[in-house]
Amino acid sequence: MTDVDAAPSARVRYRGRFAPSPTGPLHFGSLVAAVASYADALAAGGEWLLRIEDVDMPRSRPGAEAAILATLETLGFEWDGPVWRQSERVASYADALERLLAQRLVYPCACTRAERAHDRVGRIGERIYPGTCANGLAAERGTRPRAAMRVRTPATPVAFVDRRFGAIEQVLAADVGDFVVRRSDGLFAYQLAVVVDDAAQGITDVVRGADLLTSTPRQIFLQRALGLPTPRYLHVPVAIDAHGHKLSKQSGAAAIQRGALHSLIAAWHFLDQRTPDEHPARIGEFWTWARTNWRAARLPPALMLPAPALV
Ligand code: GLU
Repeated sequence: MTDVDAAPSARVRYRGRFAPSPTGPLHFGSLVAAVASYADALAAGGEWLLRIEDVDMPRSRPGAEAAILATLETLGFEWDGPVWRQSERVASYADALERLLAQRLVYPCACTRAERAHDRVGRIGERIYPGTCANGLAAERGTRPRAAMRVRTPATPVAFVDRRFGAIEQVLAADVGDFVVRRSDGLFAYQLAVVVDDAAQGITDVVRGADLLTSTPRQIFLQRALGLPTPRYLHVPVAIDAHGHKLSKQSGAAAIQRGALHSLIAAWHFLDQRTPDEHPARIGEFWTWARTNWRAARLPPALMLPAPALV
């Protein structure tokens, strides 16, 4: 499919998406993001797309994509159009990188992981790249085999309004530093891939976990550099375990049991949404309720919340 085919028709005022990484089966944390983005799209009478974020191929697990799709289907999610896969989109990312290169916004960086281990950790918990390679590779670095590509970040603030968290502002040069858009192993970075794909798929509304709130200014900066539109953003609380860690596929969070209506209801509760007096007996009934009763304004304005037990 070409990017143009995917552009929304003029009628489409809302197009959302769910973009799981296939690093394991769907767990409660990713279900929360899926429920929020799907309910927001349903309530808006919009479209909802599915994109498998397998740009980080070494982290992808065989069978994870099929397991995620099967669970989503069983839980009654219906997506519009074909499923996109980032592993099939590399040419578009390379094209975007060329456009950044043409503006001299990116430069090769040959720093090693060990060299970077001493970089200062900034306000948002990211290691801030000190700009070692920003003015060209020093002679001994130029001979290192593989360079990453970093984008030059501005010292002026990038601001946006999140639908739940309100006005957010970040100074990328101070809070993040020049960040990687293509890794030294040749793979494109999530930050670039997500920007290219959200635009190519005509996404108007991004609804996702609040762990990505601090990534959004990077993405908006890249959108502007590439002349791409900025979608609306709504970040929802991230589910954490008893140790305060985000539930994640890599850390082995329990997979959602297929067909488990109670998992949908648990996600709905987690998002502080109103439930009917009588719990729906069927998944179809749940979504009918969700379509008319989703209220983004009810979302807890928290970055993280404990996951309920036994989900
Ligand atoms: N692929 C990311 C994840 O699974 C989500 C990216 C996004 O929604 O922008 O955490």
